[in-house]
Amino acid sequence: MSETCDAAIVGSGPNGLAAALVLARAGLQVEIFEAMDSIGGGCRTQELTLPGFHHDVCSTVQSMVNLSPFFADVDVEKRGVRLLRPEVAFAHPLDGGRAAVVEGGVERTSAGLGSDGPAYARLMTPFVDMASSLVATVLAPLRSPPRNPVLMGRFALAGLPSATHLVKRFSTPETQALLGGVSAHAMLALEKPLTAAFGVFLTTTAHADGWPVIEGGSVGLVEALASDVVDAGGIVHTGRWIKSLNELPAARAVLFDTSTETLASVAGDRLGARYRSALGRFQHAPGVCKVDWALDGPVPWTAPACRRAGTVHVGGTFEEVASAEADVLAGRHPEQPFCIVVQPSVMDNSRAPQGKATLWAYCHVPNGSTVDMTSRIEAQIERFAPGFKDLVLARTTTTAMQGEEHNPNYVGGDINGGAGTFRQTVFRPTMRWNSYRTGAKGIYLCSASTPPGGGVHGMCGLGAAKAVLADLTHSS
Ligand SMILES: Cc1cc2nc3c(=O)[nH]c(=O)nc-3n(C[C@H](O)[C@H](O)[C@H](O)COP(=O)(O)OP(=O)(O)OC[C@H]3O[C@@H](n4cnc5c(N)ncnc54)[C@H](O)[C@@H]3O)c2cc1C
Repeated sequence: MSETCDAAIVGSGPNGLAAALVLARAGLQVEIFEAMDSIGGGCRTQELTLPGFHHDVCSTVQSMVNLSPFFADVDVEKRGVRLLRPEVAFAHPLDGGRAAVVEGGVERTSAGLGSDGPAYARLMTPFVDMASSLVATVLAPLRSPPRNPVLMGRFALAGLPSATHLVKRFSTPETQALLGGVSAHAMLALEKPLTAAFGVFLTTTAHADGWPVIEGGSVGLVEALASDVVDAGGIVHTGRWIKSLNELPAARAVLFDTSTETLASVAGDRLGARYRSALGRFQHAPGVCKVDWALDGPVPWTAPACRRAGTVHVGGTFEEVASAEADVLAGRHPEQPFCIVVQPSVMDNSRAPQGKATLWAYCHVPNGSTVDMTSRIEAQIERFAPGFKDLVLARTTTTAMQGEEHNPNYVGGDINGGAGTFRQTVFRPTMRWNSYRTGAKGIYLCSASTPPGGGVHGMCGLGAAKAVLADLTHSS
């Protein structure tokens, strides 16, 4: 560790690396301090079950890497990163072998939605036609003026209401379940405002870039970013769990790719009392209980389209999904949880030995849960893929609280760095014009607890780095 540097960054998740890269490229001397023995936060890949089975510990579906303005300036392909796309971005099976899918463009998908096809095309076409503009605006801090006010007005009309309201436009259980499942990524009760926005936004990214995965595992993405940081003169330290500012070099700027709790405890009195008390009111999302499997072969979904999908939303009808999510929000563990199932082996045969497969699924649980949901998750998959359990060679379960042990940013198992409530979508973590500044000179937050929130897009890091550069220019 040097005695001084320009910017010290605590945490090497995608946002910490994004901030580091922008600052290093601007000529600043940057050092990253990562608690764990390997870099990457939510983009690590490990043999969690058996030798030869490579599991993404957290993120797999890199739906925003090709669409995020941060990644537009990073050539990850030159570092050997390959994005692999499934034929079906996501599928939603129902009992009786039926399934609705998002596959290719709007035309192809609406053709598969029967009588709901025209209504689906009317909803999605304007957003998919302008996907890069929509994604750039949604991922930018809300204080910047929208690039395309007409498009954003239309998005607000569709997205501000609840998912429950959105699905009333459709008459078939298939389309309603399809849009309900994707909206449930919000981790909010589906009758809450803004849940439709999550569904419409994520579906737009599915049409625009097909929800790809990184060949070999998500770790490839963060290794590429870290190599760029090092090439730009940055230094990366691992195995350095920072508990006090004294453990860092004297720096003009310290950026926290951490939870708000870690920011408050490490920066302590350097933060103003009002800011600290506002951080104390920051609300976390529910947690997740995740299971990783090594399988003897692909999942035998009854609905053939699910066998071609990267992601399968498992939970039955819209009403069933809504009821499971309502249970979680009320502090209960649903008997029949809504499960997000990701099957990387469908498009990436490097994840498992020949003929075998890796699979993961998580379901939402109350924040802080220690309940093992394995049997309930497996029962839900078995419901739509009889014979699934017979294929299990090995499994590893991570409860919500074990998730926090693996990554201190996942407080109580919250993988999104904070609840996606209306207030916290606009202002996170506190009500400030610039969310990346903490009010304390030289201290910034750059994690998913700032806008635009969870996901691998690097935009929190980019936003914080811009604030640092503006402040340093101003003060010099
Ligand atoms: C099971 C699961 C599945 C997911 N699936 C997807 C997906 O498919 N697609 C998607 O886009 N997103 C997904 N996500 C979310 C995504 O991983 C996160 O939103 C993203 O990683 C957040 O990036 P970040 O840089 O803000 O923080 P993180 O990636 O959490 O990185 C923070 C880093 O800071 C380090 N750190 C924390 N405190 C300290 C300290 N005191 N000292 C030193 N280092 C510290 C941590 O060890 C960690 O490495 C998933 C998450 C989980 C858990």
